[in-house]
Amino acid sequence: MSSPNWVFSSVREALYGRQVPRLKTTRDSAIVSIPSPGQVRLISSGLTPLVKVGETVEGGKLIARSPVSERFQRRVHASLTGIITAIHDDYILIEGELPERPPLTHGVPEWIAPEAIRDTAREAGLIGMGGGMFPTYVKLSHPAPIEVVLINGCESEPYLTCDHRVLTEHRDQANCGTELAMRAVGAKQGMVVDREINYPGGYERLLIRDTLGKVVPKRGLPRDAGVLVMNVQSALALHEAVCLGRPLIDRVVTVDGDAVGRPGNYRVPIGTELSTLQEVCEIDPAKTATLLTGGPMMGTAAEASDTVTGGTGAVIALTKEELSEHEAQPCIRCGQCMEVCPYDLPVAHLVANPHKVVLDCIECGACQFTCPARIPLIDELRKAKKVVTAWD
Ligand code: SF4
Ligand code: SF4
Repeated sequence: MSSPNWVFSSVREALYGRQVPRLKTTRDSAIVSIPSPGQVRLISSGLTPLVKVGETVEGGKLIARSPVSERFQRRVHASLTGIITAIHDDYILIEGELPERPPLTHGVPEWIAPEAIRDTAREAGLIGMGGGMFPTYVKLSHPAPIEVVLINGCESEPYLTCDHRVLTEHRDQANCGTELAMRAVGAKQGMVVDREINYPGGYERLLIRDTLGKVVPKRGLPRDAGVLVMNVQSALALHEAVCLGRPLIDRVVTVDGDAVGRPGNYRVPIGTELSTLQEVCEIDPAKTATLLTGGPMMGTAAEASDTVTGGTGAVIALTKEELSEHEAQPCIRCGQCMEVCPYDLPVAHLVANPHKVVLDCIECGACQFTCPARIPLIDELRKAKKVVTAWD
């Protein structure tokens, strides 16, 4: 299977010069809920099940949680109303139907205290929905002073439009989640950034630099610059948890790629198998050369049996025509890799002669995408990182 970072070169050469194409074809596709998948498989590795096989559960019921001693607490809630049909070490199966979604309202309850917001985020199982999947309550609990909550709605990766649709259709609710996050961390300023931006401009360090003029220290975190970055759907989920009492049980996923018959933005219960999306969205397995969860630059090669998690922003099914499968050639020293690197890293040089500066690489893939010699630069950069790390 081709590495995700190798896609699109033919498209790029034909249409986009050296820029990563945006390919936002589902931008105007309103969010639609998929029909009930019938069964969900909820990942529960390391968690304690709170239900038994044969038990009937309502959608939203807490079914597994971290042991109290765990540093980072996780929670899993039933994403269907139905029956627990199996409990394994790594997952819990539920057969059933979609629970009703409560009507979306908005408005920040004036009375809610910062601690209550953080507790609610923890108990609702909220995580970073941009792919990081780090528990939201932990981010909201850090004592570092935060001046700005920045909601990242840029989606600079090609194809992804789910956050754009959430902002288009549920802006007030996302704003409410932003205000709740501000209150939880004591930030004076909140900002929803949704401008169109080319990859990798949506990467949080770059966004902070370009939007706020603040610099995140090397190998530091946004909080070191007084900024808390949240994904759009994480903000929406915070609103739903605090204002509606609704835990994280579904998310909006962009489904796209030339092997997809019905591309669009779909509301999908957590734990839905990708095979269900293949049916619902008419993804043709015969045409699919690569199935990815996430975007083509930072996503992961997937199987039909994989499930949608809270961090799955996209399911992309690419045909072989969309892929580049050229053999790597020797470096021609064109310098294009350095030109596109958001950190001006001397990429080709670092690959040949590892230096500690390689640790600044965020593995965004822009250099690899651009390289006319098709050198697998990400792999090479990772090797260089290992070399310099071993020096310590
Ligand atoms: S060197 Fe790293 S940060 Fe720079 S473009 Fe390549 S992958 Fe991105
Ligand atoms: S690694 Fe690729 S992009 Fe960079 S100088 Fe060599 S051929 Fe050009």
